[in-house]
Amino acid sequence: MDINGRELSKKIKNEIKDEVDKLDKKPGLAVVLVGENPASKVYVRHKEKACQKVGYFSKKIVLQDNTSEEELLTLIDELNNDNLIHGILVQLPLPKHIDSDKVISSINPNKDVDGFHPLNMGKLMIGQKTIISCTPKGIIELIKSTKIDMNGKNAVVIGRSNIVGKPIALLLLQNNATVTMCHSRTKNLKKHCLDADIIVAAVGIPNFVKEDMVKKDCVIIDVGINRLDDGTLAGDVDYKTVHDKVSFITPVPGGVGPMTIASLMRNTLECYKIIEGIE
Ligand code: NAD
Repeated sequence: MDINGRELSKKIKNEIKDEVDKLDKKPGLAVVLVGENPASKVYVRHKEKACQKVGYFSKKIVLQDNTSEEELLTLIDELNNDNLIHGILVQLPLPKHIDSDKVISSINPNKDVDGFHPLNMGKLMIGQKTIISCTPKGIIELIKSTKIDMNGKNAVVIGRSNIVGKPIALLLLQNNATVTMCHSRTKNLKKHCLDADIIVAAVGIPNFVKEDMVKKDCVIIDVGINRLDDGTLAGDVDYKTVHDKVSFITPVPGGVGPMTIASLMRNTLECYKIIEGIE
């Protein structure tokens, strides 16, 4: 059965809109795009559209490919001090001459809607309340929407990136799953996967997880967004063959992607409340 990320995302955005309609001052999100990465442009467009939908003030700042690190850091400093802006998102990847870690660390942690700042990442690690990065936050909502109990379940995360693999492993752990992290050096990945009640695939290789790698009735979260030569999108899971064997699966598109955006809208509201001193 599909987990419908589009529907869940719509529901969350409607809830946010209802809340925002009652506010005198609108939450403001700044999205910074450096360069001409086509996928990044699409993501930024989706984020802007979502802001319009929920009633946020959104500010898109597009900088040229050859923008210096110093110029970008100056812009972030301005946004950190801008009273109309409650969330700052720098679309990754940045051009190679810019140090992404330095840029992310320069964002006010209370405006870090992506949850990538080391302080927010560290808080997640030790289980403190924090701004949780959007994709992992959305994934937990998707799993919860199936009503399966994560308590004691075997969860396998394929991929160990800072933006998906590591934080989702921590969140699954917080939800009392027994978590195994797999990656490019993992030996006998299939064995780990066949033992899993929940698989989160964040690899970046189209159709990587095959039907013979998954246990009957397990839950599959497909994070991958892979553009194929014919222009279509494919996930990291071979949806066609896996779909009938598992209990739940997120489709690509229409699964994790929309929930990432919904989580970004949620995080912006959370940052707004911190910055404006509400609650
Ligand atoms: P990444 O390239 O940073 O990490 C990929 C991970 O896959 C690495 O940790 C690597 O060890 C692992 N890996 C590579 N080959 C492997 C193999 N043969 N066996 C096991 N593990 C292997 O990627 P990322 O940023 O985590 O993104 C992963 C995918 O998710 C991409 O397709 C990306 O576009 C997508 N993504 C989607 C969203 C969304 O909102 N839906 C958000 C972020 C990323």
